Amino acid sequence: MKYYLGIDLGGTNIAAGVVDENYNIVARHSIPTGAHRSFEEIVADMARAAKEVAEKAGLPLSAFTSLGVGSPSCINPKTGLLTFANNMGWRNVPIIEELKKHIDLPVLVYNDADCAALGEALAGAAKGYQNVLMITLGTGVGGGMILDGRIFKGADGAGFEPGHTVIVYDGVMCTCGKKGCLESYGSATGLINQTKVAMQAHPQSLMHEFCGHDLSKVDGRTAFESAKQGDKAAQDVVDQYISYVAVGIGNLSTVLRPEIVIVGGGICNQKECLLDPLNEKLQDYVFGASDIGAPEAVAATLGNDAGIIGAALLEKCME
Ligand SMILES: [Zn+2]
Repeated sequence: MKYYLGIDLGGTNIAAGVVDENYNIVARHSIPTGAHRSFEEIVADMARAAKEVAEKAGLPLSAFTSLGVGSPSCINPKTGLLTFANNMGWRNVPIIEELKKHIDLPVLVYNDADCAALGEALAGAAKGYQNVLMITLGTGVGGGMILDGRIFKGADGAGFEPGHTVIVYDGVMCTCGKKGCLESYGSATGLINQTKVAMQAHPQSLMHEFCGHDLSKVDGRTAFESAKQGDKAAQDVVDQYISYVAVGIGNLSTVLRPEIVIVGGGICNQKECLLDPLNEKLQDYVFGASDIGAPEAVAATLGNDAGIIGAALLEKCME
């Protein structure tokens, strides 16, 4: 049996795992990132977590042929530097060089959303597919694209930021400084804003009851749950929100032609209310859908494990 070693580096936790060749996580070890600390301290802890998880799996480090890391940024292949990790405050840091001071293995680093997409493509909802688009609807909108079985990287490894494709000309200001990004409309944050606007226009809506008449308690479920109970204003919010998501996924699918679209993030728990209407709307937004079809959107199945599995298996998609 061959084993793979991976780390999913998040703003909150450093999650390390050992993955077997059937893509099962056989050991895991998680420690707080302590994102306020220095780059060197965090990297030393990453190496420590990798060694500890190997030990938990009962394997020597020599049993592995690489350490894969999913990080909230990307490596510029020209400079070998991790370019930008917002939640860590890192800019152009030599993460591979620093890791190698602590651990004697080849190190591969990719964007964490790309690693999650790879994990879902190898072992999750897109198992068996070679062309997979993954979109995560969370606080922001992230995603990864597997093209012909490999992670799509683009120039300087900086490719694939689906959340920052513009879907509304001169639209809502995005956190990235542009206007009208998919992230501003399709994220949970966007949905919450849309819900609040509708609540202010519809004082009788069930949505007010659902959040205890407290606008600060509105979350990603408020509109969905109220719509399920037949509230018209809530249903309008849900319809409009799904349309925004469908435009974003429809554009990406028209360009990249994935075989399947994985939708991740908390909102994907709304299976019937989100995915069924989303698949219907994709028929309108994917080029040639009536003749050649549109890719089916399905919910991610691996949760946080996708990032660990994808990171661990990075060496496999380099073969
Ligand atoms: Zn943006």
